[in-house]
Amino acid sequence: MSGVQPRPRGVHADQAFGLLAGVFVLAFSVAVLLLADDQQRVIDTNSRLQERTVPEIIRYQRLARNLEQLRQEGERIFAVSSPAARQQSMFVVTLIASHPSVLEHPGAAAMARETEYFLGQVVRQWADGRPRSAAQYEQWQRLSGRLGLQIDDVSVEGVDLASGELNQALAAMKLARYKLLIVLVLVGFFLLAFIVLVRRHLIHPLQRIDQALSNLSAEQPEPTFNTSRMLEIQAVEEGIREHHALLIQNEEIRRGLEALANKDGLTGLMNRRYFLQAAEMEQQRAQRYRRPVTVAMADLDSFKKLNDTYGHAAGDAVLRAFAEQVRETLRQSDLVCRYGGEEFAFLFPEIGPAETARLAERLRLACAGHDVPLADGRRVRATVSIGLADASECPIESALRQADEALYEAKRQGRNRVVISPPPVTNSPQENP
Ligand code: GH3
Ligand code: MG
Ligand code: MG
Repeated sequence: MSGVQPRPRGVHADQAFGLLAGVFVLAFSVAVLLLADDQQRVIDTNSRLQERTVPEIIRYQRLARNLEQLRQEGERIFAVSSPAARQQSMFVVTLIASHPSVLEHPGAAAMARETEYFLGQVVRQWADGRPRSAAQYEQWQRLSGRLGLQIDDVSVEGVDLASGELNQALAAMKLARYKLLIVLVLVGFFLLAFIVLVRRHLIHPLQRIDQALSNLSAEQPEPTFNTSRMLEIQAVEEGIREHHALLIQNEEIRRGLEALANKDGLTGLMNRRYFLQAAEMEQQRAQRYRRPVTVAMADLDSFKKLNDTYGHAAGDAVLRAFAEQVRETLRQSDLVCRYGGEEFAFLFPEIGPAETARLAERLRLACAGHDVPLADGRRVRATVSIGLADASECPIESALRQADEALYEAKRQGRNRVVISPPPVTNSPQENP
């Protein structure tokens, strides 16, 4: 496991997303309140328009109508010839001039008074028998023109009043529209930020965790993460790293136990069980590819006597020394085990019995020429007998049996020698004519 990575400072996911949600709710509430305020303003303007402005406009319209009628009655006074009709028109003029709608508008009231005074004078003069004059009518024309202008002014005032209120309502509605747009952009921005944050701080780390968990094994290097800001994610990542370290520890322990289970405790060579498994696989492979393979059995000579003479510990030291010589002499690819007691089994891939015999001879000579130092300072020398057999065409057990027979033959011939098992006798046509 690589060194424990320093845990970056981070935040709890629930706190981070809670804060984000809080800010969102706050901003959204403020926006909704602002919108509601605008909506209220539109409603206020609308009701003001209905309750105050519309009656006001009607009042201006009525005033304009009254002034218009004042003008028409003036025209009539000049147009008719009957004194009764003139008196009737003059009566209407007096009524209009004193009408509250006229009186409450200063400009209109002044104009109406002036008209009533002028027309009253004219009617009275004519009633007294004075003749009509063109100057009077000209004066009336000018007055009537000014009355017309006053009517226009009053109409325009009414329209201005209405359009002022309508413009206010329109402005409020426009503002509300802009605010709504801003709110929508804000909401969109928050959603986008939320999605980006969720992807960056939750989804992507979870995907990396998923990938790390899929690849998690003692053979793979320690998973690396782009350290997340979320404490929960950091905790899971840390857990995965610890789990990976545990996997590696377990694998080392498993390998150690496997080695112990497959090894001989005294010599450190393979034990018999493991050798038979490995040798069988190796021999099958050789047979499949039609490659030579040879097995051997070795037995230390007169070992009982050595034990009896020097003691069991000396026997153990000799066994260890022999194992060491075996390791030095054999090739990397050769298999060897302590078969039991002072017996050893071998498998030599890729070489036949003749070449194996040379290798075995070298081992035998090395053993015979080596003094094993004992704990008490004495030195002891042991020899070994070796039997070989070709294993390229028969099962491993029978090849080992043949090698054992050759070993027995080596013992029989006087020990400290290498004997090759003769190839099995086949009933060939030449031998059995
Ligand atoms: P041969 O030359 O015919 O092989 O004679 P030998 O004496 O070597 O054969 P034998 O089978 O009569 O004796 C084997 C001896 O090996 C007997 C046993 O006490 C000894 N032995 C077996 N295992 C160990 C061991 O682990 N340590 C020691 N020190 N001796 C062992
Ligand atoms: Mg023996
Ligand atoms: Mg022996």
